[in-house]
Amino acid sequence: MAAAPREPRRLLILGGTGEAAALAGRLAAEPRLHVITSLAGRTREPAKVAGKLRVGGFGGAAGLAAYLERESIGLVVDATHPFAARMAANAVRACAEIGVPRLKLMRPPWQARDGDRWIDVPDMGAAVRAVGRTGSRVFLSVGRQDLTAFAGLAGTWFLVRSIEPLEASCPLPRGEVIQGRGPFTEAAEAALLKDHRIDLLVSKNSGGQATYAKIAASRRLGLPVVMIARPPAPASETIPTVDEAVAWIEARI
Ligand code: NAP
Repeated sequence: MAAAPREPRRLLILGGTGEAAALAGRLAAEPRLHVITSLAGRTREPAKVAGKLRVGGFGGAAGLAAYLERESIGLVVDATHPFAARMAANAVRACAEIGVPRLKLMRPPWQARDGDRWIDVPDMGAAVRAVGRTGSRVFLSVGRQDLTAFAGLAGTWFLVRSIEPLEASCPLPRGEVIQGRGPFTEAAEAALLKDHRIDLLVSKNSGGQATYAKIAASRRLGLPVVMIARPPAPASETIPTVDEAVAWIEARI
């Protein structure tokens, strides 16, 4: 009798990054896999991803562990943003508890180059203090969730860019909110900085190409950049590229 075909292995990609979407795109047609991407649900109209999509928090590490069991997940790739520290820690705990192999896919941080004028800071609080000392017209490129930390800087004018309209929810006292979804070109970013007479950029050290143009544009214009270091990542197997994540998965199916 012919052997019954094996059930496809169920892969959960914790998404929210370009790498997560690229990984889903590479694997969605793989017959030995059933690919599910999970998004936190911060963006009302997220970019399309290949394969199945689920949206919303799991309810902490315990909620994620329950989801992994309920959905018979066999592999997890945590491809969330390098600053998504809570999700990363929850993934480590839940996968260890259930015994599901897990990989962290995380692009390397940017490194300063000749001509960069970076003010390196360890966290958001230190970034607020650095802006208070240094900037008067600031391009604050830290994401919607971290704007509140800067709300006390009444003397600073802020340019904020958001994928979706912030409407009345922008907590900053002075400035302008514009809409836009990357990737952006260096020329367009330089024009934006000049048009708004920006004298300081604040950025997370996200790494990758998609949001690097503002860093290159600041270097071109000789502007300082308050560069916020990544939060500590949980000790775990981490790889930097989608290709390596594909190889890790293929070795397990
Ligand atoms: P976080 O602080 O580590 O996560 C907060 C909570 O959001 C988690 O505990 C989890 O809720 C839920 N969550 C996060 N990522 C999720 C996912 N992929 N699927 C389902 N639930 C998720 O993360 P964050 O900074 O809020 O980031 C949220 C999302 O935005 C992530 O997908 C991340 O990759 C993306 N993102 C973040 C940044 C950033 O700078 N932080 C930048 C760009 C994109 P439960 O505990 O209820 O499960």
